[in-house]
Amino acid sequence: MSATDPDCLFCKIVAGEIPATVVASDERTVTFMDINPATRGHALVVPRTHARDLLEIDPDDLAAVAQAGQRLAKVAKDTLGADGINLINSCGADAWQTVFHFHLHVIPRYAGDPLKLPWVPGPGDMDKIAATGAELKEHYA
Ligand code: AMP
Ligand code: ZN
Repeated sequence: MSATDPDCLFCKIVAGEIPATVVASDERTVTFMDINPATRGHALVVPRTHARDLLEIDPDDLAAVAQAGQRLAKVAKDTLGADGINLINSCGADAWQTVFHFHLHVIPRYAGDPLKLPWVPGPGDMDKIAATGAELKEHYA
């Protein structure tokens, strides 16, 4: 494990080298909107320090990611009117992991929404994603 992997997409987002709709960050974590959202408000929490997956992540980073996920879940309920939340982590390709920098999916759920897991990722409307991200960010204050 190294602090940053030069070939890692999410390390580049953490470093601000590629654009993302970041809604929150702290010493150990960054939270940003998923570009292929399963539902409105779907976001990812990642550790700043590169770790491939659940088996590799530093336990203190894992705790920080979980806490950031809980915070986001509360904001999503209050701000977006989510009725429930799925927290999902995929560890390994056979468990659906496609980006190999640990991430926790925070997926707001809405009563009667049509989502079935595993979802089939499809490109979201970037304007709507940015607007939802801005709404969430505002309520972190
Ligand atoms: P997983 O399949 O659990 O590894 O999840 C990877 C997630 O990363 C998917 O939900 C993708 O939509 C999301 N994703 C991939 N590239 C980006 C990106 N540039 N910005 C935000 N989310 C991304
Ligand atoms: Zn990384």
